[in-house]
Amino acid sequence: MTDRRGFLATALGTASAALLPTVGRAEEPFTLEKLPYAFDALEPHIDAKTMEIHWGRHHKAYVDNLNKAVAGKDDLASKSIERLMIDVNSVPAAIRGAVINNGGGHYNHSVFWSLMKKDGGGEPTGATAKAIDGAFGSYAKFQEKLSTAAMTRFGSGWAWLVVNQMGLMDVVSFPNQDCPLSAGLKPVMGVDVWEHAYYLKYQNKRADYLKAWFNTLNWDAIGERLSQALKKD
Ligand code: MN
Repeated sequence: MTDRRGFLATALGTASAALLPTVGRAEEPFTLEKLPYAFDALEPHIDAKTMEIHWGRHHKAYVDNLNKAVAGKDDLASKSIERLMIDVNSVPAAIRGAVINNGGGHYNHSVFWSLMKKDGGGEPTGATAKAIDGAFGSYAKFQEKLSTAAMTRFGSGWAWLVVNQMGLMDVVSFPNQDCPLSAGLKPVMGVDVWEHAYYLKYQNKRADYLKAWFNTLNWDAIGERLSQALKKD
């Protein structure tokens, strides 16, 4: 059958192209950055084994698969991950799904690691506290809103604090690895509620993981992201 032969030729063509060494580029376009802390830094809230697998296998797979998706497409491979996700609708349809899933996975996890630190948690202070109180009433109300968004995300996904196109803070949630940047939002902080983020320690108890996650937060890093996101373009 012609269709079948055509399909095979295309599949083989793609496979052999992927086996060719990349010329003129020493590194893959997108890279897995090292964690800014040790695997056990977030204990007891997030255990070392979960961090090791989450970063070293899950995040790594998103980076590897993103690099495969953009291989040979220099216009995409030369973009920053932020720009790639903002412009995702201009990615060719044949690889758009792969970029949404794996580019989103790469960006979302890169942000996620940066929001946490050893001996984190507590409440925000200064301008960050003022902004959160102004938008949500209090830090407790904000926590409740983000937790509800995270708890009611059916299946896998994320809950985020974002700044929207009107410059207002909002809490949203997305399925899978869908990236807030692709929805025209500026992501400030997000929590991963895929089971791979918590199952080893918390099994099915997502609420317990969420409660513990708030004890890992790096308010300096979050405050910096919030002030950048609130700046007028
Ligand atoms: Mn994850």
